[in-house]
Amino acid sequence: MKKVAVKLDIDADELASCVSCGLCLPHCPTYRVTQEESASPRGRIALMRQAENSGMVDQTFINFMDACIQCRGCETACPAGVPFGSMMETTREALAQQTPYQPWWRRVAYRVLGWPEILAAGSKMLAILQRFGLLPSRLTLPKIPLVQTPLVSSGDDVWLFTGCVMDAWMRETHRAVQRVVEAVGVGVRFPNRKAACCGALHTHAGLGAAARRLAERTIAAFPGEAPILVDSAGCGAQLKEYGRLLDTPESHEFSKRIFDVHEWLVDHLDALPLSRSRPPRIGIQDPCHLRHVQRSHDPVQAVLARYVEPVILDDDGLCCGAGGAYSMFYPDTSNAVRERKIGSIGRAQVEEVASANPGCVLHLRAGGVTVRHPLEIVDDLIRDEG
Ligand code: SF4
Ligand code: SF4
Repeated sequence: MKKVAVKLDIDADELASCVSCGLCLPHCPTYRVTQEESASPRGRIALMRQAENSGMVDQTFINFMDACIQCRGCETACPAGVPFGSMMETTREALAQQTPYQPWWRRVAYRVLGWPEILAAGSKMLAILQRFGLLPSRLTLPKIPLVQTPLVSSGDDVWLFTGCVMDAWMRETHRAVQRVVEAVGVGVRFPNRKAACCGALHTHAGLGAAARRLAERTIAAFPGEAPILVDSAGCGAQLKEYGRLLDTPESHEFSKRIFDVHEWLVDHLDALPLSRSRPPRIGIQDPCHLRHVQRSHDPVQAVLARYVEPVILDDDGLCCGAGGAYSMFYPDTSNAVRERKIGSIGRAQVEEVASANPGCVLHLRAGGVTVRHPLEIVDDLIRDEG
């Protein structure tokens, strides 16, 4: 691709806020793997400044922007409070609008996520191909169910957000979460199909208009004032950012109702039944979108500590390399990043790992790690008592 004219339109104060100290570099998974300055947060910001000043970008610029996992580990490490996530989202949206950054086939794939009927049909086809061993081994898919049993609401005290791919491929996690929340003594309500997708992957891909459409549809699917619990860190982060995305009174009110399910449970711990089983030694993998974006990873440990011996990994919350669709587009980098996480898990000497994000669960499983959602582990321990 030749150089093309682009106006990124990043907030000038945001762009100027980086003082190039480099303290974020050890926290950036793509820099640690490549050791390339342009694959670091500081290098990417320098490239954004150049592009903004010259009004031009080339394919190399697009490649360095696209190869960012958007883990936002750089944000929590940055002493200057640089809002890297919002700068990257603005950059990608400008690229998607003004350059061939997102090819048609990626746009079609993202569009499918908002249509549960098509997603269900596609998932069934994948399940059949999977049973015949016809899927490429590099695709890190769980065993996709051939037949889905519907989720059944038990009341209307709290909502449980179900999402798109997670609901199509990992519905049993929702069922385990429902049982744990019900064990507190409240009824759980599931949304209609209008809440099929939160739009996180669309936002990350720079498809802002599609993300905003999905956000409006999702908000309409959760009437009332009941809290909305989320058992996927990536979806929870996106739903909490609807206020920033749409900037309407409804969207700000909606975002206030969003809780990662562990955040909500931590205020109801005394109502949860105990377990007399031996507490297993469980390593906690903090999903980036819980630790660096929602900044709310402590409740996972607090909930788990009632049932297991929780072990904090020694990698300071470094990304596992999953990154939504990242592991499909950049398998080599993604796997190299995962190797560091697997090393940390090995040093922790745990029986199993807990991760509150379905993408991380699938990516770590594909690397041979025994890992489940934290509340699947809690559900098993509670049910052993029943
Ligand atoms: S993003 Fe923050 S930590 Fe990284 S170089 Fe800039 S000011 Fe320093
Ligand atoms: S978001 Fe993650 S991958 Fe991207 S620059 Fe920041 S630390 Fe690196």
